[in-house]
Amino acid sequence: MSSPAKKRKRDDPGSASQRTRTIASFFQGQAGKQAEKTQQLTQPGSEVHTEQTLSDEALARKLQAEWDKEDVLPTSQADTPSDEPSLPLVSPGDNDREPTTVQKKGVLSLQSSTGTEDTVSLAVPFDQSPITFNATKYAHELQGHWASEGGDASYALLTRAFLLANATTSRIKIVDTLVNLLRVLIEADPSSVLPAVWLATSSISPPYDESELGLGGSSISKALKKVYGLNSQGLKSLYDKHGDAGDVAFEAKKRQSFTLMKPRPLRIKGVYQSLKKIAMSKGGGSQETKQRIVEKLLQDARGAEESRYIVRTLVQNLRIGAVKTTMLIALARAFLYSRSEGAGFSIYSQEEMARLKKDELAEIYTRAEEIVKASYARHPNYDDLVPCLLEIGVSDELLVRCGLQLHIPLRPMLGSITRDLSDMLTKLQGRDFSCEYKYDGQRAQVHCDVQGKVSIFSRHLENMTEKYPDLVSLVPQIRGEGVSSFILEGEVVAVDQESGELQAFQILTNRAKKNVDIGAIKVSVCLFAFDLMYLNGQPLLDRSFRERRELLRSLFVEIPRRFTWVKSLDATSADSEAVLEFFKGATDTKCEGIMVKVLDNMPKPDIEDNGTPTIDTDGVPDPPSKTDEKPESRNSKGSRRKALLSTYEPDKRLDSWLKVKKDYSASSETLDLIPVAGWHGQGRKAKWWSPILLAVRNPETGSLEAVTKCMSGFTDKFYQANKDKYAEGTPNIISRPSYVEYYGEPDVWFEPQEVWEMAFADITLSPTYTAAIGLVSDERGLSLRFPRFLKVREDKSIDEATTSDYLALLWRKQSERTKQEAEQPADIVEE
Ligand code: ATP
Repeated sequence: MSSPAKKRKRDDPGSASQRTRTIASFFQGQAGKQAEKTQQLTQPGSEVHTEQTLSDEALARKLQAEWDKEDVLPTSQADTPSDEPSLPLVSPGDNDREPTTVQKKGVLSLQSSTGTEDTVSLAVPFDQSPITFNATKYAHELQGHWASEGGDASYALLTRAFLLANATTSRIKIVDTLVNLLRVLIEADPSSVLPAVWLATSSISPPYDESELGLGGSSISKALKKVYGLNSQGLKSLYDKHGDAGDVAFEAKKRQSFTLMKPRPLRIKGVYQSLKKIAMSKGGGSQETKQRIVEKLLQDARGAEESRYIVRTLVQNLRIGAVKTTMLIALARAFLYSRSEGAGFSIYSQEEMARLKKDELAEIYTRAEEIVKASYARHPNYDDLVPCLLEIGVSDELLVRCGLQLHIPLRPMLGSITRDLSDMLTKLQGRDFSCEYKYDGQRAQVHCDVQGKVSIFSRHLENMTEKYPDLVSLVPQIRGEGVSSFILEGEVVAVDQESGELQAFQILTNRAKKNVDIGAIKVSVCLFAFDLMYLNGQPLLDRSFRERRELLRSLFVEIPRRFTWVKSLDATSADSEAVLEFFKGATDTKCEGIMVKVLDNMPKPDIEDNGTPTIDTDGVPDPPSKTDEKPESRNSKGSRRKALLSTYEPDKRLDSWLKVKKDYSASSETLDLIPVAGWHGQGRKAKWWSPILLAVRNPETGSLEAVTKCMSGFTDKFYQANKDKYAEGTPNIISRPSYVEYYGEPDVWFEPQEVWEMAFADITLSPTYTAAIGLVSDERGLSLRFPRFLKVREDKSIDEATTSDYLALLWRKQSERTKQEAEQPADIVEE
């Protein structure tokens, strides 16, 4: 199934070190080992391993052996595409072997494509512990190595790190690899740190910047054909075999003996700039321009691994586990060990680090990681974070230099799920909280600067300013006197202006995303504001929710049915009846339930008596009082319940915001899953796909992990539409994708492209499904009992589908609940 290294790794645990050594030797072409390797591959039983279960290196070796065999066959039996006379598929030969002696028809022997790998980069042991890895030594060596080619860090170095990260499932090893890569770059070529971070995170710009590569699969296919001399049939059979564009490029490059030109070594900066150019080329002729850049990149790739990662980068699926959190952790740690020449901040020596006890080291790491993560949550842009880190390292100043900023969206605070109202009341016992209607609309973060410029961002930080010109036009009216600049948050809901009634979320989704003409708007919206994070040049994140809300409601001006506050009720756990009434009111008004938010940082703080913070004449509130400081007990062990914060915590899902949804029962939480495959239906359903296989998203690996088969909740009409959409022979039916993790054999695979909201009875451990494997059990994944289709989430892209860690979280909550229920005394009624 997946070339997913992930699966291979699971099948072959503990061999990382060996693999590391042999990868290097393979690419360094140690001919002496070739015979031994080939022998291993052809041992009885080795054939039962398909390519999918082999490591990248083993796959390369296997191919090598196959081609070696093909080389000694008569030309007619060799795998030479008949209609491609230019660049044939012939044996590559190892670096130190003579070019193949069997010359095939039409071979252009211009330049050997082998022997060009950057063996210096390919030998750096990035996966060592940062405590032992000698970054300075490698930085010096590499600087010398790069000097003759302009001094910039080579893409080969990045490829080396990708290979090592790809060859392990150990999160520690992935982080270590990235930390060491970053350290070498910081010390040897600091200007390549930023492009390396973008490339390693499979992105080129922050989420609120709309730059996209805009490359279709066909551009990449065309380039692969042209550069590696494949015909359509050859390319298709490689795709069918691997299902991963990167693996196809790897194999095609390996097969290419000779290239027309000597490859110019790729540089990290150069590759990133090429991607930027691809993204920037717009308008007539842009497809050709993009195409040329892709071809050039493939042409210049030295060796098959570079080709693999260039193509994985182009399809934006690197699968090296360097997602946001991993990268932030790696950055934090790298800058504890290394700094560039001229940087003045202090770092730890490796000896110092080595002397520390395990928990002391963990504490230093955690502190640094918290700062970097907090900075990124407030200002999610590596373009600003990385230069700051290079200049000042990891310090509290980072949050000042690279913190909240107007027109840069912060990552929103999120709510934790609760089982029901009584669960919520138990969790918040002893605290004052506010219950708010949970409107069914679209979250919006509104920024306005002193000049009155407005930006609006979505929950996922996309820029929605052009979608809501009506909201933009409201800003001058809602901004009360004394408000110069602000960032506020609320839910945009479609509202009938005549009756004031809330309308279904679906209505909002009909609005175009761009260039909405204010005069042509048919569906009016209302912004129900619920938080204020920034006011008159000052962040308010550290203020209690009570203060922020008071500032919001006192300084901004309501406009009926256009801009108002979320309906709310302040309460404590003693007010269960009032809370229940409020909850009913919410669900009767087309709301999804309620959001419950802790009002103050400490239980019963002093400010409770009036709850209103004083406001300076310039409209800036006083700094927080002692009582608002973050309670120490937050991390204190031994206390039964954590002291909940009422501060605004960007990008965190804490229990200080709780979601209570309607019909809450064990199964009322729904999941947003991606349909990935189907089987031919039985009986009445024979003409449709049924059941359908659904997957969660693993943001760390980029894989989709199968979680359940579903055949319930679909109408016949839906089944038919689904069959029409995923009709055989259309591009929506694909060959087995490498990035879907599933051990079974569906009849067809769908091109993953939509998100379905699914209900279920409960979550179970499963030997068959791979979802969240490793998160709750090393052997078993998670699956759903009684899955039921609810609706297509038109508003969600597959990037927003439920993640495997969220599924694991739900599973843990469910286990907790089951345990609590088991502990409760049986409900015996005594007459
Ligand atoms: P999440 O946003 O928590 O990851 P999700 O996308 O599945 O989860 P829900 O579980 O439905 O969304 O609930 C959270 C969302 O509810 C918020 O992101 C916000 O858009 C919306 N919302 C509606 N009313 C409120 C409110 N009063 N306070 C906070 N959020 C609200």
